Amino acid sequence: MKISHQELRDAIRALCSEFPPEYFRKVDEERGYPDAFVDKLTREGWMAALIPEEFGGSGLGLAEASVIMEEINRAGGNAGACHGQMYNMGTLLRHGSPEQKRAYLPRIATGELRLQSMGVTEPTAGTNTTRIKTFAERKGDRYVVNGQKVWISRVQHSELMILLARTTPLGEVTKRSRGMSIFLVDLREAIGNGLEVKPISNMVNHETNELFFDNLEIPVENLIGEEGMGFRYILDGLNAERTLIAAECIGDGHWFIDKVTAYAAERQVFGRPIGQNQGVAFPIAEAKIEIEAADLMRWQACQLFDAGEPCGTEANMAKYLAAKASWEAANCCLQFHGGFGFATEYDVELQFHAGLRSTVQTSRSRSRTGSP
Ligand SMILES: Cc1cc2nc3c(=O)[nH]c(=O)nc-3n(C[C@H](O)[C@H](O)[C@H](O)COP(=O)(O)OP(=O)(O)OC[C@H]3O[C@@H](n4cnc5c(N)ncnc54)[C@H](O)[C@@H]3O)c2cc1C
Repeated sequence: MKISHQELRDAIRALCSEFPPEYFRKVDEERGYPDAFVDKLTREGWMAALIPEEFGGSGLGLAEASVIMEEINRAGGNAGACHGQMYNMGTLLRHGSPEQKRAYLPRIATGELRLQSMGVTEPTAGTNTTRIKTFAERKGDRYVVNGQKVWISRVQHSELMILLARTTPLGEVTKRSRGMSIFLVDLREAIGNGLEVKPISNMVNHETNELFFDNLEIPVENLIGEEGMGFRYILDGLNAERTLIAAECIGDGHWFIDKVTAYAAERQVFGRPIGQNQGVAFPIAEAKIEIEAADLMRWQACQLFDAGEPCGTEANMAKYLAAKASWEAANCCLQFHGGFGFATEYDVELQFHAGLRSTVQTSRSRSRTGSP
């Protein structure tokens, strides 16, 4: 599919205009999920941007996919509710067998199967992924999984999940990054048959869960790639995730800047618009500069990823810079709305949640690879 960035932006803006702030406010109030919004994005094919055309997707690059995510958040939406559907399939695409790709990718492209979840983090290992304890033991034509995961997002809105588990004990591997494998878990069969899901009540409206594995059986054909190489596959996939989240943060940042700029021009106290005070104008300008600077790193990460070059450092730096810049823009927006930033009616606090979510996730980006 050939489409310019401007055409993409126009199409996503048009779609988002059908979902005004009242829609997202209601979802947030109900601690619900934006089903109608995600359905529409899926039906129009945007969630399948990174799936090659031969498997029913649009075959776009990460740069284009990142424009989609940026525009959703720039319009006041929440790409975090569904971004996993865009990048989790990358593990299958890069490391799956031809049979696995044929079996799953076309159905992921249509949205019939949602692969929105990736189960990596564990309560005792935290950021140190090589210390995970969830173990998948080969028994004939099955793997039997026991262990626990935490913070696993969008499980309740997925049919499939990517799971990282140890297949060789840590004490028996020559390198601690070896001996872990990736599985595709069919959640429809697994939940209630060895997998228990417990939602975690949290600070923002984000569906995330604890998972308990008690002799969950996974057919051997659901192993992705080579046994023992799962950690490397996960790291490969994280670069797309990091860059897309950076683009979401940049979208949030623009939303905050536009919102506060308009408010500062209109809000009069002491007989003039508050934006005429340098104490107000300069922090807004600074936040805008930082968003634009972070955006350059996002494009660099996209360019390298789309050229098939290593981009771990750039993807990490893009996410780190973009999360920081969007956080500052969020603070400015909240601060210069005065008391009104506190009122749900102005939507500032709702968008603030999006910034918070990305900033929290950035700690993973920093410590898992040691860069930047
Ligand atoms: C909203 C949300 C959604 C998430 N979704 C998913 C998901 O879908 N799938 C998934 O697998 N995981 C998910 N996570 C988990 C996330 O990746 C982890 O929270 C993250 O990896 C950090 O692990 P931890 O929470 O155990 O923190 P810890 O590892 O306990 O770290 C605590 C703090 O110490 C810091 N720290 C740790 N070690 C060092 C060090 N050596 N030097 C300096 N600082 C250090 C960390 O940066 C962090 O600030 C999600 C988390 C959140 C909050």
